[in-house]
Amino acid sequence: MINYHQPLFRPPAEANSIIIQVTLGCSFNKCSFCSMYEIKKFQVRELADIFLDIDKLSYYEETRRVFLADGDALACETSFLIEVLKYLKKSFPKLQRVSSYGSPYNLLEKSLDDLKLLRENGLSLVYYGIESGNHELLKYINKPMKPEKMIEGLNKATSANMKISCTIILGLGGKNLSIQHIEDTAKLVNECVHINYLSTLQLGLTDTKEDDFFKRFEKKNKEFVFCSDEDMLEEQKKLISLINPKKSIIFRSNHASNSLPLKGTLPKDKDNLLDVLNMALEDESLLRPKFLRSF
Ligand code: SF4
Repeated sequence: MINYHQPLFRPPAEANSIIIQVTLGCSFNKCSFCSMYEIKKFQVRELADIFLDIDKLSYYEETRRVFLADGDALACETSFLIEVLKYLKKSFPKLQRVSSYGSPYNLLEKSLDDLKLLRENGLSLVYYGIESGNHELLKYINKPMKPEKMIEGLNKATSANMKISCTIILGLGGKNLSIQHIEDTAKLVNECVHINYLSTLQLGLTDTKEDDFFKRFEKKNKEFVFCSDEDMLEEQKKLISLINPKKSIIFRSNHASNSLPLKGTLPKDKDNLLDVLNMALEDESLLRPKFLRSF
């Protein structure tokens, strides 16, 4: 078996995938809300070590899905990733899908030709944290990125025929920035050519991140006031009602942080999703108990 470098994370949809650590940590590792890789120094693993891990798992001949960890395997050189993808294809003859996390910075750094090459060699799905479409808020959380640049990166991945799975964090702007957060996020989603999958998380902070997170708001003379479950469900309602995508989006709120699991296709299921949200807002016994949640 593989000795993974802990902690190890993967998206909920990759629960049944083989996980191969191509990098350790996150090449950015500065977002003020994120503690996922705070104890890891970013590094690209040696190709020989990655191949060894693949060899150890290659007896799973039926493998159809592989997820490349850690935080943003897409930060690697394209030629390096292609070596990994080729080795995966050789080792798992039934392989259908390879995916990885990709940050906004990664997608901007890769050219369209790079992304096309990666797609041709099997990388077909990129998980991407939008977090918010509000530029000010992205600066507050220390993930400064212009929304139009995110749209540019995401559309480039779509042009390369990759699928995209994006996440948005409810409650990220607190009560004070809630309206801007949701309105600008819906705008960003609507301007993308095609986001295939979209999910929402509810903000949660570990003890190690709280001070830095609050201080960054205070520096901009903004007080951060936590949103309640009810506030976040209202944000969810507003977001869903404002999303009018150019192509259908599979929508989920299945992350462990969510108070209310939801699934549907947008815009087709918009009314049903809003009905479920309205019911939950009237009857909080429908919400997942807090002790069963984690960020
Ligand atoms: S949110 Fe993503 S980009 Fe930001 S530090 Fe965490 S893993 Fe890295």
